[in-house]
Amino acid sequence: MQFIDLKAQQARIRDELERRIRKVLDHGQYILGPEVAEVEQRMAAYVGARHCLLVASGTDALLMALMALDVGPGDEVITTPFTFVATAETARLLGARLVFADIEPDTYNLDPAQVEARITPRTKAIIPVDLFGQCADYGRIEALARARGIAVIEDAAQSFGATQNGRRAGSFGAVACTSFFPAKPLGGYGDGGAVFTNDDRLAQVLREIRVHGQSGTYRYARVGINGRLDTLQAAILHCKLDIFDDELERRQAVARRYDELLGGAVRTPAVRPHNLSAWAQYTIELDRRDAVRDSLRQAGVPSMVYYPVPLHRQAPYHDARAMPVAERAAQRVLSLPMHPYLEPDDQARAVRALRQALAA
Ligand SMILES: *Cc1c(COP(=O)(O)O)cnc(C)c1O
Repeated sequence: MQFIDLKAQQARIRDELERRIRKVLDHGQYILGPEVAEVEQRMAAYVGARHCLLVASGTDALLMALMALDVGPGDEVITTPFTFVATAETARLLGARLVFADIEPDTYNLDPAQVEARITPRTKAIIPVDLFGQCADYGRIEALARARGIAVIEDAAQSFGATQNGRRAGSFGAVACTSFFPAKPLGGYGDGGAVFTNDDRLAQVLREIRVHGQSGTYRYARVGINGRLDTLQAAILHCKLDIFDDELERRQAVARRYDELLGGAVRTPAVRPHNLSAWAQYTIELDRRDAVRDSLRQAGVPSMVYYPVPLHRQAPYHDARAMPVAERAAQRVLSLPMHPYLEPDDQARAVRALRQALAA
């Protein structure tokens, strides 16, 4: 049993992958070739955003969003301490001050009340993360931000395909960012990401930032980066988009099956009624998490801990303020194998091993 199985998916689309890769080899436009614009159009339509730009990684997407919104020294950026480091790292790289707000105990997403308590006149941006595939509470967070002229940046790295009140992840905030790291719900064969926005001016700024701030041939209107996605990666994403909706349904089925098999034994994931998760992770909570994880490993069942130490307890991002909900979650969460091709037999075996570990 694998934690994430990328081979089963590849077997399904191998011919189409080879056809699309061969096409790139034939036309030879390796940088910003036609596949890049094609996939951007497909993704913008899928997410329901006016603009999509493919970029080199989810981290670059976040960096570019912050740059486009002029976040820098003197600004404060509010985000969650219970996330992958890139969410916080990019704001710090630009010289902004990170302000962590604690999370909700059941969804692990930013708690809007905690966000509100941490807003100051210097707050420039709020970065909610759609952790494990479920959208943060955009209804309340966007209302807080709008009333004060603060920008929201959606970190949708784990939630591509998710919805909230029928709206897709990637359509919230001034700019939304996602990742195509291979293990994400929509993964490429290498690094990749995208930014989404409905704002024509921000889209133009992002377009310039992606190519070193270039506004005309060897003319520069601003400081930028090399943030482009390779044409080859775009070709691969083309193939993966073809089967993505089917894979999302399979993920829902896998999650439902876990819910049924685990019923009552442990705390299963809480998905709000107006949310549909992309199920990047299926994450349960346990009292003796590390001991259970060891037993699972011995039984041949892989599992992961996202994340064992919250960012405000890590040296570069240290903040003495207590974040009790994030700290408790970090000690209790365990993510079980999750991918669209997980077989019911393997799920049953994983849950049997889990029940045995709990009884020991
Ligand atoms: C994966 C991830 C990122 C970074 O994406 P990369 O493509 O690996 O750079 C950012 N934020 C979150 C929440 C992630 O899970």
